[in-house]
Amino acid sequence: MLTKVAIVGRPNVGKSTLFNRFIGRKKAIIHDTPGTTRDRNDYEVNWKDKKFIVTDTAGWSGDESVFSKDMERQLNLAVEQADIILFVVDGKIGIHPFDAEIAKQIRQSKKTAILVVNKIDTQAEETKGYEFYSLGFDEVVFISANHGRSINELLDKVWSNI
Ligand code: GDP
Ligand code: MG
Repeated sequence: MLTKVAIVGRPNVGKSTLFNRFIGRKKAIIHDTPGTTRDRNDYEVNWKDKKFIVTDTAGWSGDESVFSKDMERQLNLAVEQADIILFVVDGKIGIHPFDAEIAKQIRQSKKTAILVVNKIDTQAEETKGYEFYSLGFDEVVFISANHGRSINELLDKVWSNI
């Protein structure tokens, strides 16, 4: 069984951009997995001598002002089905209340998780992302999914957890 890597996080943090970045980097094979949730994308990624399946989780819909039971359910489903969680946050905005909720759920799962501080488009912006260390994750990487910054570093972190 291939290792399953799920990209999770609140809306607009750049999950799909990161997913597309993974796909663009290596020629990924499309897996049209029947029976999986609508809006879910699974791709096989090759990195160095290892392979994994990356899943872009569906976007939340409806009222996004409160962290709902529905959001919790969707998150838990994605987390349950994954071996490694990439928890994406928005480094430009800083910690959002939902980030703390998501962090809590991920911690409860006891799964391997990497905190991905996205939208760090330049080295100078990295200090902005330091506040995310307070979410309590051991593995943290500062990336720009848009610019492709530190994607190799992230892939290496995934690789070392497979
Ligand atoms: P999702 O809702 O988490 O899947 O987020 P999307 O991938 O759809 O991206 C949401 C917005 O954030 C889009 O306008 C992206 O262009 C933007 N975005 C994604 N990654 C980056 C990044 O690394 N830097 C910046 N500045 N914007 C980004
Ligand atoms: Mg998306």
